[in-house]
Amino acid sequence: MTPDLSREGLVALLRLEDFSPVYEEADRVRREAVGDAVHIRALLEFSNHCRRKCAYCGLRAPRRDLPRYRMTPEEILSSVRAAWAVGYRTIVLQSGEDPWYTPALLGEIVREIKKATGMAVTLGCGELSREAYAALRQAGADRYLLKHETADEDLYQSLHPDGTLRERVHCLRTLKALGYETGSGFMVGLPGQTLDVLAKDLLLLGDIPCDMAGIGPFLPHPETPLKGAAPGSAELTRRCVALARLLLPRANLPATTALTVRGDNGRVFSGGANVVMRKITPNAYKRQYEIYPAQLPDTDIPAQRALLEDQIRSLGRVPL
Ligand code: SAM
Ligand code: SF4
Repeated sequence: MTPDLSREGLVALLRLEDFSPVYEEADRVRREAVGDAVHIRALLEFSNHCRRKCAYCGLRAPRRDLPRYRMTPEEILSSVRAAWAVGYRTIVLQSGEDPWYTPALLGEIVREIKKATGMAVTLGCGELSREAYAALRQAGADRYLLKHETADEDLYQSLHPDGTLRERVHCLRTLKALGYETGSGFMVGLPGQTLDVLAKDLLLLGDIPCDMAGIGPFLPHPETPLKGAAPGSAELTRRCVALARLLLPRANLPATTALTVRGDNGRVFSGGANVVMRKITPNAYKRQYEIYPAQLPDTDIPAQRALLEDQIRSLGRVPL
C-alpha cells in the first residue's frame, strides 16, 4: 500500500475501520529501515521537583501533597552502574523542571557517567536555555527528550499556563542544531483533541525532524485539573505510532510506559515500535514520581532486564 501521509490523508487513516494493512506496512518499514532490534533503555527519574504547572501532570508545582525528592549525584551514579552491570547501554535521566540541578551540576553527572561506563546518555529535564543545552552536549550528553505534547496552539495554551508551543518547538530545533539526537512526542486522548490535531502532531515530528518520538496515551491523574477526563485509547495510540513509523522510517519509537499501563502487552512492537524503557528508579523514590496513576512493581534491575529480554525474544525480535 502507498498511504497518503498528508494532513487530510493522516486523518482518513486514523479513522479507518480496519487499520491492519497500515500496521503491516509499518512493520515492514520498521524491519527494512531499522531491523529487528528492540533497544532497551534504563530510565532513572532522579528528581520529582518541578516548577511548572502542566495541567495533566502529577508532578506539577501546585501539588503540595506530593513528597518531593532529589537524588544525589552519588545515588544517580550508583543506579547507573547497576544498570550498566546487567547490560544496559543507554541511560535516560528524567526529571521535573528542577533548577536545583544547575547545568554545571548536571554536566558533572553526565561526565561521571561517561567516565565510569561510557553509556549513551539521554536527558529529559525540560526546557533549558541554549547555553545550558550546549554545555550539557559539551559534557557528553548524546540525546534529549522533550515532547511537544500537542501541536495545536490553543490546546497547548490551555494545558500549559507557563509555556508556549513556539518556545517548545524552538527548544527542539535548538537541540537538533546542537547535534543532539532529538526526541519529541505527544499524548493521545487529551481532552479537546481531534484526529486533525493528531495529524498535526505527526507532521510536526517529521518537520523537526525528530530522531525519536514518544507517543503515549494521556492518563488522568486524580490530583490535577484534568482528573475527570477520560484516558486516551491504546488503539488510537498504536495507530499514531504506526503512522510515525511511516513518516520517519529510521526513528526510534518507544513502546511508552503509559501504553503498557493501558494494557498494550507488546502489540505496539508489531506496528512500528523498536524501543522500550525500563524504570531503574530506586524504590524509595519510584512511587513519588507519579506523573499518572500506575501500579508499579518494585525495581529489580537484573530480574526486570532479564524478563524484558525474554519477552522481546518471544516476539521474534532481538533485545539490545
Ligand atoms: N519535565 C520534563 C518534560 O516535561 O519534558 C520531563 C518529565 S515529564 C514527567 C515526561 C512526560 O510525561 C511529558 O513529556 C508528558 O508527555 C508525560 N506525562 C505527564 N503527565 C502525563 C499524563 N497524565 N498522562 C500521560 N503522560 C503524561
Ligand atoms: Fe513538570 Fe514535565 Fe510534569 Fe510539566 S510534564 S509538570 S514540566 S514534570
